[in-house]
Amino acid sequence: MTDTTVVPTVPVMRPWLGPEEAEAAAAAVASGWVAQGPRVVEFERAVADQLRAVDGVAVSSCTAGLHLALVVLGIGPGDEVIVPSLSFIASTNVVRYVGATPVFADVDLATANVTPETIDAVRTPRTRAVMVVHQGGTPADLDGIRALCDRHGIAVMEDAACAIGAEHRGVPIGGGSDLVVLSFHPRKVITTGEGGMVLTTRPEWGARLRRLREHGMSVSAAERHGSRTVTLEQYLEVGFNYRMTDIQAAVGIVQLAKLDAIVATRRARAGRYREALAPIEGLALVDDPPWGRTNYQSCWALLPSSFPSTRDELLQHLLDRGVSARRGIMASHLEPACADIAHGPLPVTERIANDSLILPLFHEMTDAEQDRVVEAILEAAGPTR
Ligand SMILES: *Cc1c(COP(=O)(O)O)cnc(C)c1O
Repeated sequence: MTDTTVVPTVPVMRPWLGPEEAEAAAAAVASGWVAQGPRVVEFERAVADQLRAVDGVAVSSCTAGLHLALVVLGIGPGDEVIVPSLSFIASTNVVRYVGATPVFADVDLATANVTPETIDAVRTPRTRAVMVVHQGGTPADLDGIRALCDRHGIAVMEDAACAIGAEHRGVPIGGGSDLVVLSFHPRKVITTGEGGMVLTTRPEWGARLRRLREHGMSVSAAERHGSRTVTLEQYLEVGFNYRMTDIQAAVGIVQLAKLDAIVATRRARAGRYREALAPIEGLALVDDPPWGRTNYQSCWALLPSSFPSTRDELLQHLLDRGVSARRGIMASHLEPACADIAHGPLPVTERIANDSLILPLFHEMTDAEQDRVVEAILEAAGPTR
């Protein structure tokens, strides 16, 4: 044994969960109704109201919700869907689930998002939809993208896995859009363990999404259970089991009430990083775009070419000092699973994927923990500052 005090590693992310979530989950269990039921309905209403959407359909994950959004749009074999390569690989995978072809668009260096220009550069007569990803919680230029897509009859859907609590022109991401999909994975802003939700402005799509998540059934299990007359269901189309449980929804209802506080903290901590890292010349920290506000789900920094070490060396340096940062957003086109997807040059995607890192940021982070991260980065930057 040595007398060295072991300082715990600063994690990159930790969900803000307390006794309230535990009690809500326990109450769902005690009620005897643990599958999709009344708490899912309540969670859907609460999320839709808070984000100013017409309807919300809870699903088992964001990946499942993205899949259903493509089904609702009628996308299939022979169709092309434009997606950023610079995203979690789920954005690309779901396009393949429906037999369509993903077409990679490059992104903008400041936001890590697709733009009207990068979309137009890869558009073809077979383009049926664009999957806009609000990467790391930074809103993409929805007005510009919609204007382009409307001109060409292309549908716009949004992968807002990271973006609950972000805003586009004063409207919460998720409000006022045809199809927006959220994630409640613990790496995101609020969590249900696993889970997602599809938000839509169109009631008929909401009804179809509810059917598709439950095997194409004409009457949900919860409705059948609550009915006082014998109700025989029909299976109207090929559907899926993409349901959320009431235990998850119970946790989600508590988490949703914390959303504003979580986003406020994340924005304040990002501001503190910006100030503390300002001495490193050329280091760019993600920021609000002119058209909206980010929630800093990923507080990522792009290293300047003058930085004395590579990104991966910096990650190791941080780990050696008890700081768990992460590589930046992945470039899907560089993964073996995407080797068969044809694409043009994606220089900005590759630059961000190679030279960016995600800084630790979580609701209960202390000033002392954040200072440790800053000191370790300043140390690695050495005389470049
Ligand atoms: C996390 C993430 C997903 C997948 O979310 P799940 O809920 O885990 O399925 C999809 N797209 C993006 C951009 C993500 O960050």
